[in-house]
Amino acid sequence: MEFKSKYLQGVYNTVEKRNVGEPEFLQAIKEVLESFEPVVALKPELEAKGIIDRIVEPERFIQFRVSWVDDKGKVHVNRGFRVQYNSAIGPYKGGIRFHPSVCASVVKFLGFEQCFKNSLTGLPMGGGKGGSDFDPKGKSDNEIMRFCQSFMTELSKHIGADTDVPAGDIGVGAREIGFMYGQYKRLRNEFTGVLTGKGLTYGGSLARKEATGFGTCYFTEEMLKCMKNDSFKGKTVVISGSGNVAIYANQKATELGAKVVAMSDSAGYIYDEKGIDLDVLKQIKEVERARISEYAKRVSGATYTEGCRGIWSIPCDIALPCATQNELNGEEAATLIKNGVIAVSEGANMPSTPEAVEAFQNAGILFGPAKAANAGGVATSGLEMSQNSMRYSWTFEEVDAKLQDIMVNIFHAAYNAADKYGVAGNLVAGANIAGFEKIADAMIAQGVAY
Ligand code: NDP
Repeated sequence: MEFKSKYLQGVYNTVEKRNVGEPEFLQAIKEVLESFEPVVALKPELEAKGIIDRIVEPERFIQFRVSWVDDKGKVHVNRGFRVQYNSAIGPYKGGIRFHPSVCASVVKFLGFEQCFKNSLTGLPMGGGKGGSDFDPKGKSDNEIMRFCQSFMTELSKHIGADTDVPAGDIGVGAREIGFMYGQYKRLRNEFTGVLTGKGLTYGGSLARKEATGFGTCYFTEEMLKCMKNDSFKGKTVVISGSGNVAIYANQKATELGAKVVAMSDSAGYIYDEKGIDLDVLKQIKEVERARISEYAKRVSGATYTEGCRGIWSIPCDIALPCATQNELNGEEAATLIKNGVIAVSEGANMPSTPEAVEAFQNAGILFGPAKAANAGGVATSGLEMSQNSMRYSWTFEEVDAKLQDIMVNIFHAAYNAADKYGVAGNLVAGANIAGFEKIADAMIAQGVAY
């Protein structure tokens, strides 16, 4: 018996039976259900109305073939996915990931987490997620375009500005969103806010590109202030990854007075004692789409080490895992703790294994879980949807101020929910519960529709 509540145990057993061979999905379900123990104990109507039974099962799961032709004329077949997880509080909303590791388990774990994250933002967005096992690395722009067009040809049948609004994620940035948006428009003959993360010339929001990384730092700054009377100022920071989230987490941490000394990609990590030169890094990653090892060739004094996981052996005050799921395990957490880390915030989705989370919590390290700490991206996507509906655009400063407000509110929602349910200081439980309560209320009000 893994759960105290018989109801939760029964729900988990069913999920386990129905989703054989899906470890990431089961990991996410288990973590969230564990947090619901005190809520289920206090609210018997959750069992009576089958809320947890329903919330763990996606409303819809779509899998499709994506065929495309490379520059040499060879035909390739990839697999496309969209999970429309929960629409109780708004249209499905969540990113699209292009990475060879994408499968049903990964899409479902991300979609499940997304429901609670979106609820936490306070904006009216349900949860969804999608992607493909297509690997964009090494492909030409034309190959990327043909793949995106093929992918959208099927996806377009299932999405819409009031139905399901995808965005970017790993391997999907402004270029891919542009190609997908173009194809959607061509198929539907509609200029509508069906995707977020769009380019600024065709309905994108200022500050969307920066939002997840900036948001992670706003959340962390509030967590440091309220729980430790501290801040980023003067701190040494390590950030894994060097994609969209990692780059803008670096920028904001630096603006808040910290020094970011290490970053990584899936092949290795760089260390720059003086603090990473973000202009050089952006040129390498955003303009040239090259490997992070280039940085050490261009900046004197910087080093490159093969193997991305070694990054956690670098001493730091604040660690921001911003690459991918399960990239930080129990042993690596122990090393960070031994080296004096005081706060960890997750820019990526589920980057810390359950053993790592437990190690941080047992050691009293401040821990900002992904669904709270990285909600700034989807929050700003929500703001992009509002601007599209209004046919209007806010300035960078207006969007950034709203983002900052939302991240501060998310911290307090998670902190207060943890307190209310007797797990004070546990932001993992607090974020899950705060996100859940709103969805559960909406599901109860709407009856057994799904
Ligand atoms: P990008 O594709 O821009 O960057 C991903 C980064 O992570 C790259 O540096 C990549 O290295 C690295 N990476 C990917 N897979 C692995 C792996 N298996 N091991 C080590 N490193 C890896 O993606 P994003 O920055 O957009 O996303 C990063 C994380 O943040 C994901 O977990 C995503 O779900 C989450 N997130 C993103 C949001 C957004 O707005 N973009 C919003 C909320 C969460 P390489 O180039 O070598 O593959």
